[in-house]
Amino acid sequence: MLPPGSTIGILGGGQLGRMMAVAALQLGYRVVGYAPAGDNVAAEACSDFITADWDDAAALEAFAAACDVVTWEFENVPVSTVAAIPEALLPCPPRALEVAQDRLNEKAFAADLGGTPAPYAKVESAADLAAAIAAIGTPGILKTARDGYDGKGQWRVRSAIEAGAVAYPGVTCIYEGFVTYETEFSVILVRGRDGAVKFWDSTANMHEGGMLSRSVLPAGALVEAQVGEARQLAAKVAEGLGYVGVLTLEFFATRDGPVFNEMAPRVHNSGHWTIEGAATSQFENHIRAIAGLPLGGTKTRFEAIEMRNIVGEDALKAHAILAEPGEPHLHLYGKAEAREGRKMGHVTRVGHAVR
Ligand code: AMP
Repeated sequence: MLPPGSTIGILGGGQLGRMMAVAALQLGYRVVGYAPAGDNVAAEACSDFITADWDDAAALEAFAAACDVVTWEFENVPVSTVAAIPEALLPCPPRALEVAQDRLNEKAFAADLGGTPAPYAKVESAADLAAAIAAIGTPGILKTARDGYDGKGQWRVRSAIEAGAVAYPGVTCIYEGFVTYETEFSVILVRGRDGAVKFWDSTANMHEGGMLSRSVLPAGALVEAQVGEARQLAAKVAEGLGYVGVLTLEFFATRDGPVFNEMAPRVHNSGHWTIEGAATSQFENHIRAIAGLPLGGTKTRFEAIEMRNIVGEDALKAHAILAEPGEPHLHLYGKAEAREGRKMGHVTRVGHAVR
């Protein structure tokens, strides 16, 4: 167990790191963040924050020297950056990042463990793209294999006619058949250093423009019927990776069962409701797991919960939400610029307490 006063290092400087840092502070830890220059909103919650490039060996060495344990809040931290941190400081092996950073890898990894991804093909040229569309059909989605997030680096191919207009973007991609689903849902688990796993309830997730907009509980009968199978896969993935901390898998609930979409080796936007809505939040349990502390319960505390993202300029008038009935819980991330499509905060509304 990491003693109070120890220092937790977080790679990445976004809102996930900010909420993780708050949880760490509450447990009596110090937090040092590390990220390249940018709007690093986690810095305000850290005792110290190192702004340096991912490949700055001297800065990484200073960061590691200041930390007792190192984790990440961003799945695209280069694997070489994590490899520069002494292994003894890493409760979770960097293999999780390696797998999750590449859509082809993560789909193959999940499929090997019995998961069902959408039909997909690797695309490395214009000819591959034409062959993939011919084999898998339309509608489908072309996605960059790496570095995509929140619907960025994705092109929908609605019909064979439209296919002609989609150019190969010049980087390795994946072409996926479009899944007809009723609901999207996520499985969020925490795995301790001893291998014990706990799951939070799965929310139904709604997206707008490829980006999460809302997560709600209860998630509905179809999700509830499929969550057991999805959890089994998530537990196998966590075990296969030797994972420690919070891990997220996203699924489509279809008439034929859960279809695996992607994994995030970190706390997740669809788990923000756990701050007020669960016995222990995803952020706190992530810190507890990497610090070797006993994990907290994950039970949902209310009969109904809705988490809604606050995006772009809506954040400028978000304080007005506090006057609404039902005691909404507002979280703003302190981002400097309310750019269109940018996650600025979230609001969680809860219903009656579970008896
Ligand atoms: P991703 O970045 O893979 O999570 O994709 C972002 C969102 O786009 C997903 O949450 C879905 O709403 C949608 N999407 C992605 N892939 C597919 C697919 N193969 N079939 C249907 N919808 C998809």
